[in-house]
Amino acid sequence: MHRDTLIVHAGYRPRGEPGPFLAGPQFSSTYTTPGDPAEHALTYGRFHNPTWTAWEAALGALEGGHAVAFASGMAAVAATFGVTLKRGDVLVLPSDCYYAIRRLAASWLEPIGVEVRLVPTHGDHAAALEGARLLWLETPSNPLLDVCDIQGLAEHARARGALVAVDNTTATAYLQQPLELGAALVVASDTKALTGHSDLLLGHVATRDEALIAALRTWRTHHGAIPGPMEVWLAHRSLPTLPLRLSRQCASAERLAAFLAARPDVAGVHYPGLPSHPAHATARRQMRAFGTLVSFDLATRPRAEAFLGALSLVREATSFGGVLSMAERRARWGGDAISDGFIRFSVGCEAAEDIIADVEQALDRTR
Ligand SMILES: *Cc1c(COP(=O)(O)O)cnc(C)c1O
Repeated sequence: MHRDTLIVHAGYRPRGEPGPFLAGPQFSSTYTTPGDPAEHALTYGRFHNPTWTAWEAALGALEGGHAVAFASGMAAVAATFGVTLKRGDVLVLPSDCYYAIRRLAASWLEPIGVEVRLVPTHGDHAAALEGARLLWLETPSNPLLDVCDIQGLAEHARARGALVAVDNTTATAYLQQPLELGAALVVASDTKALTGHSDLLLGHVATRDEALIAALRTWRTHHGAIPGPMEVWLAHRSLPTLPLRLSRQCASAERLAAFLAARPDVAGVHYPGLPSHPAHATARRQMRAFGTLVSFDLATRPRAEAFLGALSLVREATSFGGVLSMAERRARWGGDAISDGFIRFSVGCEAAEDIIADVEQALDRTR
């Protein structure tokens, strides 16, 4: 079966089973459970929920493993750190990964005795891997869209006894399947392109390792990082359009990147789909398309702010992957090694010519 068809049906009730294709959200904190709790499939809302079960079946099908859903991407990241790292362990983390993950490592893991080694996504991981327990990758990285070779690094790490976890948020399981490429764990914020409607926060972790899955479920139960059934149901309702949304968004992002790269007044266009991207060949090998994010540099804060203000269709907002295009001056948050004029642009589902026309008029007016 074509992967797009699998995604459209993932986690939905099998053909022939009576009832709705996708059951509505089940809201319950508790269930009627007389006697021995072990005799009941459903007991308490922090332990399990049928709406999660269907969503996790879908995520597992997409990732090629078993999945556990969390309340947000960061809850999924924290759970992955929590079940894999202890005092004395070494974590190799991209120096250019999502800034909140670096802050979490510095504020939680380092004080409890985990050594954190920072290596850029395009850097040389060999020395840093010596004695490491966990190699964390983020490819394409947010917001610089650097790319690393998941398969190559997974082989390297396995030979040194390290686990590999890939933050797959920017690509999603539709564009890239890290477990197939040898990673032990894949982590994602489903707040972004996977669900794509800018209306919820969710995250997940997937793995083929039964012990890790059990540990992640226990972590979620004990830490209470559980997703709400309404969010999960909305996410699942958005999933069948993932192939449609992302094929449109990625095709438009390629066009926007090519348009920007040809403008003399725009520097540093980052997009893995551009042949000039330093890791274009790797991206081509491991990704189905090159993603919905395009980053570029307008050099200064005043020009970047004027550009964003001059847009008439594209919204000024943080986050990405939604059906409505949005852009922001990323340096306003701090924490990333980028210039003050760096723009992170999330390409939505509008017609590409309208997105490009809006960018063009905003660039022309603020040159
Ligand atoms: C947004 C993001 C996260 C965190 O996800 P939330 O759903 O906001 O908690 C983690 N990693 C990357 C790469 C992200 O872009």
